[in-house]
Amino acid sequence: MQGLGPLARLFNNMSYEKQRHIMVESQLRSRGIKDERVLDAMEKVPRHLFVETDLADRAYDDCALPIGEGQTISQPYMVALMTELLELKGDEKVLEIGTGSGYQSAVLSLLAAEVYTVERIHSLAIRAKKLLADLEYKNVHALVSDGTLGLQEHSPYDGIIVTAGAPEIPYQYTEQLKINGRLVIPVGSRYSQVLYRIDKTAQGIKKSISTGCVFVPLIGKAGWDEKEIY
Ligand code: SAH
Repeated sequence: MQGLGPLARLFNNMSYEKQRHIMVESQLRSRGIKDERVLDAMEKVPRHLFVETDLADRAYDDCALPIGEGQTISQPYMVALMTELLELKGDEKVLEIGTGSGYQSAVLSLLAAEVYTVERIHSLAIRAKKLLADLEYKNVHALVSDGTLGLQEHSPYDGIIVTAGAPEIPYQYTEQLKINGRLVIPVGSRYSQVLYRIDKTAQGIKKSISTGCVFVPLIGKAGWDEKEIY
């Protein structure tokens, strides 16, 4: 704690619940997140348990944090924005690509009926699966596979959320969406992307841009080639 300014020290001494409340008000609501169900879910999920123990006191900071294996847990605002774009009402089946820490899956579990989440790195998937089970997020089903191909066996989905940056949109995602389903995905170069919301309608695909963003790469058959990345 030494070296922190007085404000940071004060914040550090607050309970995680209080820090979470401040995060929701100052990082999410004040920046335009309006869906009360999303705000409520993010007020509930204990983000400090999804980061490494020595980073717990930074869990509610306004930034992404490392989770091991060169991957990150997204900034709270980005989690809120992407979740809001899915417009979940509670009865949906959602697919998440990139389980990572499991934090986004936990938020989704409070907002949808069933959540399928896919991770390509075994160690992360195992850790997230155990934590989600310990915290009793019972409607989350965590699997290890190459999520660039979607997850055919449980399709079609009402929503698909991709939490890693793709070079282009794998056709499998729109194929595995229901009509009137939504896909939220960052697409672009390795170092910067644009967040798209894709609506699948009976008339076809509608694409809209939400914001600029920076994600770790989506690696796999229909994503970046691992050999080009490392
Ligand atoms: N949603 C996560 C963010 C994780 S970062 C959270 O809340 O913590 C993105 C994750 O996507 C990384 O863990 C990375 O390993 C994973 N990933 C990258 N390519 C993937 C692929 N093809 N299939 C599944 N997961 C992938």
